[in-house]
Parts: sequence; structure tokens; C-alpha cells
Amino acid sequence: MSDAAFKNDNNAQYDFTTMPNSMDEFWMPFTNQRGWKKEPRMLVKAEGMHYTDSTGRQLLDGAAGLWCVNAGHGVQRIKDAVNAQMDVMDFACNFRYGNPAAFRAASRVVSMMPEGISNVFFSNSGSEAVDTALTIALAYHRARGEGSRRVFIGRERAYHGVGFGGISVGGIPYNREAFGQLLPNVDHMKTTYNFERDGIHKGQPEKGGVELANELEDLIYLHGASNVAALIVEPIACSTGVLPPPKGYLERLREICTEHGVLLIFDEVVTGFGRLGCASAAEYFGIVPDMITSAKALTNGAMPMAATFTAKHVYDGLMSGSEAQIELMHGYTYSGHPVAAAACIATMDEYREEKIFENAKAMAPKLEEAVHSLADKPHVKDIRNLGVIAGIELHPDKDGNEQGTKMFNDMWDKGLTLRPGASGCVALSPPLILNENHIDQMVSIIGDYLDNL
Ligand code: PLP
Repeated sequence: MSDAAFKNDNNAQYDFTTMPNSMDEFWMPFTNQRGWKKEPRMLVKAEGMHYTDSTGRQLLDGAAGLWCVNAGHGVQRIKDAVNAQMDVMDFACNFRYGNPAAFRAASRVVSMMPEGISNVFFSNSGSEAVDTALTIALAYHRARGEGSRRVFIGRERAYHGVGFGGISVGGIPYNREAFGQLLPNVDHMKTTYNFERDGIHKGQPEKGGVELANELEDLIYLHGASNVAALIVEPIACSTGVLPPPKGYLERLREICTEHGVLLIFDEVVTGFGRLGCASAAEYFGIVPDMITSAKALTNGAMPMAATFTAKHVYDGLMSGSEAQIELMHGYTYSGHPVAAAACIATMDEYREEKIFENAKAMAPKLEEAVHSLADKPHVKDIRNLGVIAGIELHPDKDGNEQGTKMFNDMWDKGLTLRPGASGCVALSPPLILNENHIDQMVSIIGDYLDNL
């Protein structure tokens, strides 16, 4: 900002509800800078299920921000915890020091993970949690004398964030094409999605799970089991259009990984902490992976914080050598940041006290019925759902253009926020405090829109 612009704006520096003088400097993430800045969509307030934009208009939050705000916006308990920690200590480094909030948050969230998960490594974003998991996988194998295990296997249509590791194991072509293949030694399984077989289906597809998972055996055979470090999958691929796994798929992946000594990483940055009506997709599916990554709902989106959970054998496998030595040369300045940790503890309290996961469980079948009532609307190609996550995929328009982004843009005017995904899909993932009226409202806005598109 020029000095003059700064001066003009100066009085408003701490008024976060008014439009800024300049929008030139902020390079926005995953956004068309030039087009967006001509028609900005500015959110200035949030409460419960709603945002308010800079013109004072209310929008129903159909996306929980970005799959984050599971307990709804503006939770008093989280504000209080953040303030309480800020009052006593704003920051402390966790390299060879410690702070109580980080340890309390760790005990709390580990206790919510499936039996066998014993530890958590904190970071700041889902991307970091993923790259930390990949790093731990390499170190774990090396510590056990199996340093040749360096191949990672991801999956087509996977999103694992924007770190070099996450982009490499991710499977979205347009996220990768500007950068090329970053990590060597990466392979990908096929997507589980098959429209002809599973289109317009409620919940998990019935067929093909075991056969699809068996492809992992072929890849392990191709690379040699002694070279494969880990498989990373989202239990439900969300960013690429809500793709629930076919029945038996994740179970079979677990079996194959165990058989070949390959670590299984569940990327639960979206599914962690409530979306499926429980603390993890691992719990929902009854599978214990070797590592689980989480972020977003860990602090209800209020503070940047992420987690890489590890099974006991992974942690123990690295706790060798002298006690004076650092066992894992890894960490972020903000790993276990006290203010983020305070937000995390309060978030877990809110989930428990307000029975947020229970509400998600109760609302999931209602959301399922409601979104599937859109199946016969014009332009709808497919509808997919699990828990409080739903994807609506539209046919391309008459010129062959995908319509998801257009629908996302148009929904702004209709007072609904959602997520555009890959292949003309939009995703709904509202805060888990939703009730049936919110579901009706979302579905009727979308239904009317499709009727008139
Ligand atoms: N992994 C998954 C499954 C995600 O959905 C995301 C983000 O949506 C990430 C990783 C990256 O998280 P972040 O944007 O916090 O880096």
C-alpha cells in the first residue's frame, strides 16, 4: 500500500468489517486474482450457521468455511480459551521447552483417536500434516533398517495439500501441471469413482471395493515391497467431488499394507473431528491406520493447527538411540503453539458438551434424503454423500464447460456458500450444528437455481 493509501486506511486498521482501501497486495490462495478483485466477495462477520458480507447481507454457510467450522461460527468457549492463553503466555517455542496447553491438547485429541494411536505431532496446516506424515514414514523405515522403503503411493483424484510431498502424492492433474512431478518415487492407484457403476447412489458404493483395493498389490509388486514406504488415502476424497469409498475398499487396503509392511496413512484433514458423526473416519470405518492427518476442525477453524497422529509402533520405532539425542529432526516453530492448543482444547469441549458429533450423526440421513431429492433436477449428473458431506455433480453446459464454478459463483447472489470441486461438482459440508431447516434451505436454494439455470 502506498503511504497515502495507508494513511487513509489507518483509522480502519482494526475495524475488520469495512472494505480495505486496496486489494492489490494480497495474493489470494487458489483464486483468480484479477477477475476476483473486479467483483470481490468479502466476508466480514460470522455467527453460528451464517456469514455476513460487506454489504450486510447474510449467507448460509454451506461449507463450514472450508470444511473447518464444525461447531459453528463464533463459539464463545473458544474465544475465552484463546484469550485466557493470550493473557498468560502468547508464544513459547516447543523445541526443548514445553507449554502445558500443547500437552493437554495432545492428550485430549489422542484419546479421541482409535485404540492403537498413541501420539500426535502438531503443525499448522493440512499440507504440513501430510508432509510430516511422509517424513515420519521415511524415518520410521530407516530407523528399522529398511531405508530402501522410499516409494509413496497416492491415488488419482486425491488432494493432500500444497507441500511438495502433498502435491506429489495428490492426484489432481491441474494442481500438478504447473509444477511437474516434484518428489521422485511416487505412484498412484486408480480413483475409486466409477459413474457407470455407482452414479446417483446413497452412501458408500456397494460394488468393486476389494477389486479396486487389490490394485495396491500390483503396485507393491511392481516397485518391490522392500521399496514401498507408505500409502496415503483420504478415506473419502472430498476436494475432488465427494467420492465415498466402495464397501470393503479401505478394509482391503489395510490388509494389504499390513501384509507388506507398508504404512497406511489416512488423510483426515476433512473427515477428522465430526463430519461422519464421530472423531475420525478411522473410527467410522473400524480401521486403524498407522498414521492419521487432521487439521481444520481441530480448532473449529479458529486457529491454524494441524496434527499427524501416529500408531504406537510408529512412535516407538523412532524412540531408539541415546536419550540425549533428538529422535526425529523435524518440527515447525508453531508446532504445539499455545494459543492454537488452547483453541483445540476448547473446541473438543464444545464438540462434547454441545453433542456436535451426535447432531452430525442425526442430520446425515436427513441431508442424504434432501440432496438426493435433487437427482431429477435439470443439469444434475450425479449426487454423492456420506455423513454431513454431499457432492452434486452437474453436466457440462452446451459448450462443454464445467458448471460447478459457475454454480459456486451464482450461489453468492442466492445467499449460500459452498465449495466448487473437480469435474463440475459442488460440495456441501455445513457446520455440524445444522438442523433440518438449514438443510431444507440449502436444498431449496440449489433446486430453484437448477430449475432456472
Ligand atoms: N488434505 C486434505 C484431505 C485436504 O482436504 C486438505 C485441504 O482441504 C489438505 C490436506 C490441505 O490442508 P491445508 O489447506 O490446511 O494445507
